[in-house]
Amino acid sequence: MLTHQSQIHARGRQALLHEPAGGDPDKLTLVKALGSLVWDEAGKEYIDCTAQAWSNNLGANDPRVIEAAIEQTRQITHARPTFHTPVLLELAELMVSIAPRGLDRVGFTLHGSMAVEMALKLAMRNRPDAQHIAILHDAYHGRSLTTMAASWPHPGNVFGVLQPRFLRLPRPDLYRPRANLTSAEDTDLSLQLIRDILAKGTEGPVAALIYEPIQGNGGHNVFSTRWHRGIREICDEHGIMLIIDEVQTGLGRTGRMWASDYYGIDPDVLVFGKGVGGGFPLAGVLAKRRYAKFLAGDDQLTFGQFPIALAAGLAAVRAIIADDLCARAAENGKYATQRLLEMQQRHPLIGDVRSPGLMVSIELVRDRISKEPATTESHRVFELAQERGVIFGESRYGGLGNLIKIKPPLDISREHLATALDVLDEVLTIVEGEGQERFHDH
Ligand code: PMP
Repeated sequence: MLTHQSQIHARGRQALLHEPAGGDPDKLTLVKALGSLVWDEAGKEYIDCTAQAWSNNLGANDPRVIEAAIEQTRQITHARPTFHTPVLLELAELMVSIAPRGLDRVGFTLHGSMAVEMALKLAMRNRPDAQHIAILHDAYHGRSLTTMAASWPHPGNVFGVLQPRFLRLPRPDLYRPRANLTSAEDTDLSLQLIRDILAKGTEGPVAALIYEPIQGNGGHNVFSTRWHRGIREICDEHGIMLIIDEVQTGLGRTGRMWASDYYGIDPDVLVFGKGVGGGFPLAGVLAKRRYAKFLAGDDQLTFGQFPIALAAGLAAVRAIIADDLCARAAENGKYATQRLLEMQQRHPLIGDVRSPGLMVSIELVRDRISKEPATTESHRVFELAQERGVIFGESRYGGLGNLIKIKPPLDISREHLATALDVLDEVLTIVEGEGQERFHDH
């Protein structure tokens, strides 16, 4: 017998525009979160290794953030961008103080996608003669029409008619370098190809090059310091604005405040989002002072400087600093990575273990030599872990699907992190056993 409430929920699932028809039976309905834990409507508890799209760098529902948001709600909830609010000015001052050196201006908005668009507009405002904006293969910069076009091609893209065209540049792959090359050689070749494209493959100047210091949705692709340095040199040679998209890597995730600090990158513009809001929607752009500011009307959105999100962000960033979450991410990341490397010795499915900090993933492969993606096995690992109360991240985007992502809140307790890794160990054994059975059946 369905209760009245579950009947309403069932009808709600049917009504949602973003659900497959009939609703996704696997999709949990979350009712509560605290720190690294979430609970579903049946009261079942889970360790959340996704930090809800890697956004709760500070554990969920931190009382400092909640109180700040409530207090702000009592004062003023909404002010249009033609006005300032105290939280806007205080967070602006704080963001500039923690930014990589030289980034001393900041703008706010609510979503990472809109922050990326803000950065692209800033590039065009400052280089109106330029015809192009460059992105990397396997990039992910969001889901607005423009940022979607700036991302890995969308399977069966029906939006193209209204999307801008980006200059797509090759990138090295440290796990699968181009045929017969070492990863260092692949990095050098990619840089050389980019130089060739900029010299001979485009018409007119390039306003900006945007990339993620570690590609997230495109497959947890890590780059070497040599690559980051090479890209900076290329941008300098051509007068290209270098935009670093730290929506996923920022606010302590890598064990430093910014991946730019971790890799020694010198961005002209940095995009932030996710973790900055302490669980509230907040994102923005940091930029060098030498760029012209936006003119009135260039980038004004009704809720772009939403006081409640800004107050939550101010409290979250202060907490990230006070609790030294960068150090926590580094320690927890080291522990997780060591355990995963140890598991890799015993589990043939684990092809690669990736970090840094608490930006951790494993790539599952059917064979360590051919590196054939173990896609169905990965989904099985995800499912079995969820049954056991651990939610891992999956890579379902763009036909990837063989990554298991372990990116919990940076302040996850050692006990919860250990339990999540124990469950991973257990379910890998099960899935490897199932693979053996399938093998013998044939
Ligand atoms: N850039 C990167 C690197 C991201 O990972 C994301 C979100 N996954 C975005 C931009 C877009 O952010 P949002 O979903 O908040 O628009």
